[in-house]
Amino acid sequence: MSDCLFCKIIAGEVPADKVYEDERVVVFKDINPKARVHLLVIPRIHLASLEDLEPEHDELVGHMIRLLPKLAREQGLEQGFRTIINTGKGGGQIIFHLHIHLLGGPDLRGF
Ligand code: 5GP
Ligand code: ZN
Repeated sequence: MSDCLFCKIIAGEVPADKVYEDERVVVFKDINPKARVHLLVIPRIHLASLEDLEPEHDELVGHMIRLLPKLAREQGLEQGFRTIINTGKGGGQIIFHLHIHLLGGPDLRGF
């Protein structure tokens, strides 16, 4: 997707503060953090949202989910963390490349 911002970050065409990457995912800091730690976990393949997921993506999704506690620990979030996936305009999604928000830190407010 040539017009997708997160695809451009994956391709290195747009800079991002990356904290982790492997053959399936890239993780970087949100440019407008809502907490002391605010990471975005994205798949390398372009999927617009949860609506695009098919059974063939189950392993990828499992990989993304299982990565979260590891990333949280690496960021010093020993007390826990919050994950959010916004889906569609009604869910507050702005960037239409699937991403998991990982948030945490002392300034994390309740809903
Ligand atoms: P959404 O509302 O789609 O779930 O969240 C999109 C997130 O992407 C927002 O938290 C926003 O701050 C973040 N974001 C938007 N543009 C950029 C960018 O160019 N770089 C980074 N690192 N984050 C971005
Ligand atoms: Zn994309």
